[in-house]
Amino acid sequence: MPETPFVNIHTHIAIPEANLLQIVNLDLNQPCPEQGYYSYGIHPWALDNADFQMNEALNKLKENLQQPQVIALGEAGLDKMHKATFEQQIELFERQIELSETLKKPMILHDVRSHNEIIALRKKHRAKQPWIVHGFSGTEQDVRQLIGQGIYLSVGESLLHPERKIHKSFKFIDLDFLFLETDMAEIEVETIYEAAANMLEMELSTLKTRIFANFASIFKL
Ligand SMILES: [Zn+2]
Repeated sequence: MPETPFVNIHTHIAIPEANLLQIVNLDLNQPCPEQGYYSYGIHPWALDNADFQMNEALNKLKENLQQPQVIALGEAGLDKMHKATFEQQIELFERQIELSETLKKPMILHDVRSHNEIIALRKKHRAKQPWIVHGFSGTEQDVRQLIGQGIYLSVGESLLHPERKIHKSFKFIDLDFLFLETDMAEIEVETIYEAAANMLEMELSTLKTRIFANFASIFKL
């Protein structure tokens, strides 16, 4: 049997490695390589740019998502700590929910203090595609709230910092809803896996098997 690969559910930095599945996030104008797995989305921060044209960007996104190696739509989402108006952010997010549902591409979400709205919009659109909140660093209550709605949680570099609140809440994440990621950090996802396995007092190989199973079930591989 080949060894179970590590899964990096969200990264901006592609690392060529045999035993690694990674979803590399690309900018809308970056071409998509033929090999590997990718995501394209319109980040809520894009609204800060005065030249941003929502319809144009959404058309480009739709075109990019047609490629089979683009397996997810992301990052998309809501950010209450950011300056773009929340109404505009919601409009942009809802248009992407519609695309995710029509094109059957799971979503990778940027969620800053917006759990309630994200859950409400998932219900409003009766979204069936899996959603993964990336860079999750919330409390035990946030864990229960999001997983209660069938939303997956991906945890990154914050696991390496014992003072962060995720250290208290991490053990409450149901393993069937867990992913790990490196996002912008220039580290290997193995480092995050090792920290996670330590905190869960679990064999690394078991954790790899569980996370790979989540990946395979969402992306039907
Ligand atoms: Zn990111």
